[in-house]
Amino acid sequence: ITDNRMYQPNDKSPLQIFVRAKKKINDIYGEIEEYVLETTTFITALHADAEIVDKAERELFESYVHKVAAIREVLQRDHMKVAFFGRTSNGKSSVINAMLREKILPSGIGHTTNCFCQVEGSDGGEAYLMKEGSDEKLNVVNIKQLANALCQEKLSESSLVRIFWPRERCSLLRDDVVFVDSPGVDVSANLDDWIDNHCINADVFVLVLNAESTMTRAEKQFFHTVSQKLSKPNIFILNNRWDASANEPEFQESVKSQHTERCIDFLTKELKVSNEKEAAERVFFVSARETLQARIEEAKGNPPHMGAIAEGFQIRYFEFQDFERKFEECISQSAVKTKFQQHSSRGKSVSGDMRSMLDNIFERITIFRDLKQDQKNLLTERIQGTETQMMQVTREMKMKIHNMVEEVEEKVSKALNE
Ligand code: GDP
Repeated sequence: ITDNRMYQPNDKSPLQIFVRAKKKINDIYGEIEEYVLETTTFITALHADAEIVDKAERELFESYVHKVAAIREVLQRDHMKVAFFGRTSNGKSSVINAMLREKILPSGIGHTTNCFCQVEGSDGGEAYLMKEGSDEKLNVVNIKQLANALCQEKLSESSLVRIFWPRERCSLLRDDVVFVDSPGVDVSANLDDWIDNHCINADVFVLVLNAESTMTRAEKQFFHTVSQKLSKPNIFILNNRWDASANEPEFQESVKSQHTERCIDFLTKELKVSNEKEAAERVFFVSARETLQARIEEAKGNPPHMGAIAEGFQIRYFEFQDFERKFEECISQSAVKTKFQQHSSRGKSVSGDMRSMLDNIFERITIFRDLKQDQKNLLTERIQGTETQMMQVTREMKMKIHNMVEEVEEKVSKALNE
């Protein structure tokens, strides 16, 4: 990687909703962890006095330490996930590349991705690849090498290759968005496996269609299966290759309204995942290839239209940006809900449990202290009694000795006189 483009943080990005929520929940869990550790030390010390805390209670408290640590680990790894589907060559890899603003995934004839490819951010400016079931980091020097690596390997169509790309090169990767590219829905019958293995935790699905043809049964079937497994999945539909419509301007509007109607019907009437208004905001007409080219030109300091393929570039480019904005809003809100809602309610229940346990222990300590005080009072009384007794005994003894001495003196002087 020779290009040193750096992305400035964009605090206005809707993705920041997720980024801030993640920071907040991680901070809260950091505090909970400190609290649990401190309390466990205290409980262990109390356990030494078995009258207050028993073994079972101490063990229960220790289990909270592990629970909280496990949640913290998951939280640190949480990200937003978007998965792309559609027939081979509709432009899935190109859409991902356009969003990443760089040609990362190989695309085009001969570079058909025949396994799942996940692109995620890497720390430390390194680009590498990892194959499923291996921890080995395979260095990626350039896109050609990556393409070869993906093509040469005999990978099963449902296996996963993870591509780690430097976070600082793309704001989406920096903000924890993970992209999943799939083999074309036309090549596989194992939709169930696909969904179970790679999609169950996706926050957003993007169906990439070819605007030059109509949606196929395979494309529809895939989303039917998805919506059976997930309740109300977030689905966006991209009618890609819309640049081709520039060749037939006389049909452009009618083709567009026909496609729009079909896509909206699919989301509302068939899948029943959105209402009309929402569905209308989820269908776009774009050109991924052109957007990618425009962005590559922009990065070189050239105007974006230098990447234009056909007439009408500006409209298509705006539409792609509009898609990105709505996508960012949707993924960020959905991920906060699905990823953090569960953790925050677990956090609440753990701290609630600990609190009632501590209240209980505190009550026992109070009772115990009162009991000790009573015992102390009783003991003090007894000691005082003993002291009085002792004094009396001493006094009596003294008198006795005194009398004895007097008696002896008397007897001795009498004996001397005699
Ligand atoms: P995938 O198999 O769905 O990942 O499709 P690719 O992204 O590999 O794209 C297949 C071919 O279509 C490549 O040669 C792309 O350059 C081309 N392509 C992708 N998007 C567009 C587009 O919007 N317009 C045009 N004209 N070609 C495109």
